[in-house]
Amino acid sequence: MALIVQKFGGSSVADLARIRNVAQRVARTVDAGNQVVVVLSAMGDTTDDLIAMAKAITPHPSEREMDMLMTTGEQQSVALLAITLQAMGYKAVSLTGEQAGIRTDRVYSRAKIISIDSVRLERELASGKIVVVTGFQGIDSLGEIHTLGRGGSDTSGVALAIGLNADFCEIYTDVDGVYTADPRIVPEAHKLPEISFDEMLEMSSLGAGVLQPRSVEMAKTFNMPICVRSSFNDNEGTMVKEEVEMKQLEQEVLVSGVAYDDDLVKVTVYGVPDRPGIASVLFCALADAKVNVDMIIQSGHRNGKNDISFTTSKEADGKLEEVLEPVIAELGADNFTLETDVAKVSIVGAGMITNPGVAARMFKCLYENGFNIDMISTSEIKVSCILKKEGAKDAVRKLHEYFGL
Ligand code: ASP
Ligand code: MG
Repeated sequence: MALIVQKFGGSSVADLARIRNVAQRVARTVDAGNQVVVVLSAMGDTTDDLIAMAKAITPHPSEREMDMLMTTGEQQSVALLAITLQAMGYKAVSLTGEQAGIRTDRVYSRAKIISIDSVRLERELASGKIVVVTGFQGIDSLGEIHTLGRGGSDTSGVALAIGLNADFCEIYTDVDGVYTADPRIVPEAHKLPEISFDEMLEMSSLGAGVLQPRSVEMAKTFNMPICVRSSFNDNEGTMVKEEVEMKQLEQEVLVSGVAYDDDLVKVTVYGVPDRPGIASVLFCALADAKVNVDMIIQSGHRNGKNDISFTTSKEADGKLEEVLEPVIAELGADNFTLETDVAKVSIVGAGMITNPGVAARMFKCLYENGFNIDMISTSEIKVSCILKKEGAKDAVRKLHEYFGL
């Protein structure tokens, strides 16, 4: 008997028919002799709809009330699944994040899970029940409700799998697994049978929206294998795990995937005095405002001044001016601009560690196809380029072909 955590995304529970489909899949897993903990997202676009409702009242609703509001979405879906399972003759119970013992830090709207008290979960499992837990939420030490950031149910699923010492975590979504590129951009993209935690981490941080990056980080830290698969068919899916098979390494797969992200704002601060400590002031202010900065470039200075550019997600757009204006004044910088017509195109592959020249080949491909590179950043297994948004999807197709994916 295995203990399996099965997480289903919003599209998998979008209506009652799909909830029934999920119930049948869970039931099959139980009938095969396994214990199952189910983690659900809110039905379909519920979270977006709830956000839109609040924003129709005021453009900046309080983060506490937003968390209170958004967590109702997952409460609906778990109760409906438990009712469906019970109607099919199975013992099931739904639990909120609090009831499931999910403890978070005290950051509203993107809290981190700090511990799982699994006593209640274990008791329910021991009594033969299927336990259905709300994704995306937990409570802090004061009993306040927090959400885990968009897509946070993935992290709930992985955290519960770790907390319960489950055999593995299945993440069911509306695609078959992890692809070499977004099939909507590259029709020739194909499914990867497996991918390492590190590669997956890069892919999901780069906007390949299959898994919340935090969930992959956690799975890597605790070595919890994740299987990403579709809730609409029985195809095998992609295993995200520590080591990829030797055969993949032998074939010298340099690049495993190409990612595209246009959920991006590029900020340039002009005329920053060239003094020690400047970057620290600027980026500490951004960090204090919980703005996640991605790429950073400081240009060569002239007349004792530098330009500093960085990128962040569009989510931060609303508060950037508010954060930057006082900092610019404090630093004595000239001014700043925000650009949203940019996109990030990235190649990811563990093979880059041992094979030099992969970045050079990427630049060559972009150059030969007439793309101008605005910013570049690299890690051991990734190269990202910021391009003008117009045409950037074509760059993804060109790179996919160039690296023989
Ligand atoms: N319902 C939340 C969202 O839409 C959490 C999730 O789906 O994982 O972001
Ligand atoms: Mg999701």
